[in-house]
Amino acid sequence: DENRAISLRMEPYGEDRNLLIGRDVTALYRLQGVRQDFVANVSHELRTPLTVLAGYLETLLDSEEDASSEMHRILTNMHQQSERMRRIVEDLLLLSRLETTHPDEEYFESIDMAGLLGIIAHDAQLLSGPEQHEIVLEVDPQLWLVGIIRELHSALSNLVFNAVKYTPGGGKVTIRWFANGKGQPVFEVQDTGIGIEPRHIPRLTERFYRIDVGRSRARGGTGLGLAIVKHVILRHDAQLDITSQPHLGSTFRVTFPALRAERHRMASGSGPN
Ligand code: ADP
Repeated sequence: DENRAISLRMEPYGEDRNLLIGRDVTALYRLQGVRQDFVANVSHELRTPLTVLAGYLETLLDSEEDASSEMHRILTNMHQQSERMRRIVEDLLLLSRLETTHPDEEYFESIDMAGLLGIIAHDAQLLSGPEQHEIVLEVDPQLWLVGIIRELHSALSNLVFNAVKYTPGGGKVTIRWFANGKGQPVFEVQDTGIGIEPRHIPRLTERFYRIDVGRSRARGGTGLGLAIVKHVILRHDAQLDITSQPHLGSTFRVTFPALRAERHRMASGSGPN
């Protein structure tokens, strides 16, 4: 049966021989597929009712004149919760698409990273709001990247938004984009935030893994951001390194293969070349 999946493993057998052991993992693979389809289907089904719900709540909020009333408080809360559900569903959909499609099916294009990071930095400044973080961009405008722009936009903004979310107001977030000594393009985001204890670092990219659930929720987190980041990075043959010191801050670094780098003489937005 050509549709069976077999997992092979070598084991020492006697003094100088090895035994090749095959295990039929077809059922396991099928189960995984069923689980992924299920998550994708459920997310898809939930999307429309949630959008409708959030829309109605928005209308009610707009028509509720007295901003100090109990009704206004309840509506605001319901609206926030429905937005949170919407974000979770969107992230689950994105994650299941990342898990089930092969990157070869996606469109790789030349990306003006300085431009993309400028947009992300601007959005991060909005997210920072009245807390006002200092957001600094140190980018090489001539260094472009061949990648899947939609996915990179999600992943890199997740990392930058996290830096803002987990850094108290007044803190600093630095976004870097450069080529390292080996010619590999590197994206780095460094914050002066709460930091991460070393024991948590290996588990951060697991779905729904959060160090402080209360803080994550209060900041609008879904617990899926770094799981999405991990998949996008894998699909670009890149590597994620996390370094952090509790109470001092964290650095998330993504190193891409040198062959994904492109040199463009013209800086972004400087006209035809
Ligand atoms: P969330 O939606 O909770 O932010 P993520 O998957 O993006 O989910 O991140 C997982 C957890 O990793 C967060 O809940 C937080 O505890 C921790 N984390 C992520 N980025 C940072 C950071 N820059 N500083 C400190 N902790 C972070």
